[in-house]
This record gives sequence, structure tokens and C-alpha cells, in this order.
Amino acid sequence: MKQMPRREFIRQTAQWGAGLALTGLAACKGRAQMEVNGIAAMVPMPIQVVIDDVGWWSGEDGSARQEPYRTGIGRNHVPADYQAIADLGKKLGVRPQAATILCEWDRTNMLREVPTSTWMRENWDNRKWTGPWLEEAADIIRSNARHYELTLHGIGHEYWADSHFTRAEWADRSGRMRPLDQVELHLDYYARLLEQNRLGPLPASFVPTAFLHGFGPAAGEEVSMAQVLKRRGIHYINTPFSMMANAGAAQYGLFGIDDGVITVDRGEDLFDWDVIGGVPEARMSGPTCGMHWPNLLHEDPARNAEVVEGWVRYLSAYNSGLATMLAPDSTFFQRQLAHHAGTAVSLKGPMIDLDFTKIQPIPEQIAGRQFMLKISSPFRLRFKPEKIRVLANADALEAEKIIYTLTLERLPGERAARIGLEAA
Ligand SMILES: [Zn+2]
Repeated sequence: MKQMPRREFIRQTAQWGAGLALTGLAACKGRAQMEVNGIAAMVPMPIQVVIDDVGWWSGEDGSARQEPYRTGIGRNHVPADYQAIADLGKKLGVRPQAATILCEWDRTNMLREVPTSTWMRENWDNRKWTGPWLEEAADIIRSNARHYELTLHGIGHEYWADSHFTRAEWADRSGRMRPLDQVELHLDYYARLLEQNRLGPLPASFVPTAFLHGFGPAAGEEVSMAQVLKRRGIHYINTPFSMMANAGAAQYGLFGIDDGVITVDRGEDLFDWDVIGGVPEARMSGPTCGMHWPNLLHEDPARNAEVVEGWVRYLSAYNSGLATMLAPDSTFFQRQLAHHAGTAVSLKGPMIDLDFTKIQPIPEQIAGRQFMLKISSPFRLRFKPEKIRVLANADALEAEKIIYTLTLERLPGERAARIGLEAA
């Protein structure tokens, strides 16, 4: 460690204590970061991986024949494609959301009872896709629960009012929800398909198919999709706001609260839906690393690991620095995102002030009270928390600076807190 900055810090700390003026070193670096004497602090934006259109066994784009687009990978999917998701999660210490389509998991052709859910309507026949691979994939999903979150996407992805599909399963092109009785029926059968394959109860999260979704109820309607989902225990929606009806009503920029359900802006994906084995380079635009299943896979499933490795390299870089971090799971992600948006951080002399005024309107079941704060310093620090609890403290060395990651817990009712800094 360089000795000079530490000495300088101690000297200044003494000056601050004596009420002397700050020597002009404070520089505001964006909304949530300030730098004083080489020390900076930030509530990092969490990043979560969301993978769409998992669950198809056929990889064929059938859109020209009024069948779903599926994944367009041009081969059948295999259990190794599920393993790729779990491996990504394991290697990064995260829990990717696999937004799943389940029609090709129907072992008894029960979807004949829901004609709007498939291209064959009353004549639905899925015998072709019933085989040992169902159990093999289910076993991968079940045994990797810490690194694989099954997320509701849909049954057949589109909506078949007759033999022609219309986009999409849960809402039409204007984002208006499908008839309520049909939405409820699709949810019932999604739950039955999960049960049939022993994949657990309805998930807690939802990605609307074709990103057709409305925030709040559509004009003339009383019920919103968020409300319908909430009644089923689903409390998290992820979709790009650029395609969402009534997106202007989302209250917090990166996310909104729709009838108590957090709705997160997915932003723009790094690749088109049908790019096989993407090698990511561009910087992500927001908190969601959104992709489609083929982006993570290889044409030859035996080589999936090569593609997964590329994503691991790309994503792990978001754990460095102060601005971002990979969220270990959805619950952490929501809490951290709420604190990222709703906590004002300022460095005043040898202390970090945290102001939680803006987080107050966010329901506690979303925001929680725990979050992470990152602090970088050219020398070792000791922390003296006031009106806040430090649950954990980890540090790492990056580019000659020490990056501290503090896990903090707000105290009930406190709108502000302070962390005193001392040179260690
Ligand atoms: Zn989709």
C-alpha cells in the first residue's frame, strides 16, 4: 500500500475533527458516488441473469407455419442445455432465471383442454416429446436449485384463438391482457405441468412472452396482470420497459411497483434471440443481463461449456469496481436494486452518510432492510457504524485500491445512518 495517502488521510481527519475546512478534494462522481481523498462509496447496481425460452425440446423456428418461434437453434434441445444454465449459475455464484415454456413437457396431452395454448388446439399431441430426457432435465433443475430459478414464461408462448397464432400468450400487441378466464386457465395448467414433472409449485417470478405486457390495468379494465400474478404468489416481473404499455407509470426508473409487484426494466439484450453461442463484449445497459437460450448454447451440445465459459468471463467483471455486482439470487437482487435507487450516499469528511428517505415508499417485502455498500480506498479502513448494522465485511485488492464490500442492515424506522471511517 502507498503510505502517503494514508498519512494524508490521518492528517485531514484531524483537521475535520478540529472543524477545519475540507481541502477541496471532494468530487461528486455521479448520483450515488462521491470521492474524498481517494475514498469512494457506492450502493452498487445488482445484475441478474434472465434466460428466455428455456423448455422447448424442438429448437425449430415454426413461425412460418403458425407454430411458435421456439429457440431457432435448429437442433433438438437436450438435458445438457439445462446443465449449461446450472453451470453458469454455479461458476458465478448466482441463480439465473430460466424463463420456461412448458407445452413440450406435457406427458398426457392435457393441453387439449386449453385450445388457446397450442398450435394444435383440441388435437394437441405431444407424444413425440415424451421420453427419458424429461426426467433427466427435471433432475438437473431440481438438484441445482441454488443455481437455477425456474421462472414462469408460458405454456405455448403465443395465443391461438383459432389456427393462427397471435402474439402473445398473456397480452396482445398493445399490451392488453388476454381475457381473464383464459389467463387464469393458462396459469392453472402451467401449475399442472410443473406438478406432472415434479418441478415444484408456481414460480415466484414472471417474464411475459414476446415482452407484451402492461403496467397496471389497461384502459377500461379493472384487473392488471400484476394483480392476477400476485394472487398466485408471483411477486416479480422482468420485461423491457421500451415495449411495456403504460411504462411511464413505473415510479423508480429502473423498476416500478405495480400493485405491490416489482416490475424491473430488462433494458436491451446483448444479442438477438436466435444468435447461437454469443460472445458478449458490449457493456450492459441496466440491471438485467437478458438473453435467449441459444445465446448460451453451442450448436453441438457437447461443447456448451465453451460458450458458458465466455459468459462467465464477461459477467464476473461486473463484480469488480464500485458500480455493479452480481446478485446471488432474486430476493437479493430486488433488495439491492431498491437500495441502489433509493439510497443517497455522501462522503463528508471521515464518514459516509446514508439517506434512506427515497426508499420509504417501497414496500418492505420488496426493499427489505439488507443491502451492500462498496467502498474503495487507497489504504486500509476501519468502520464505525451508527444507526446501522454491519453484518459482513469483505475486502479485495483491485488496481492498488482496497474494495470493501459491506453487508448492511438498516434499523427499523431509521431514515438515515452514518459509517465513520478510520485509517486502520
Ligand atoms: Zn420468449
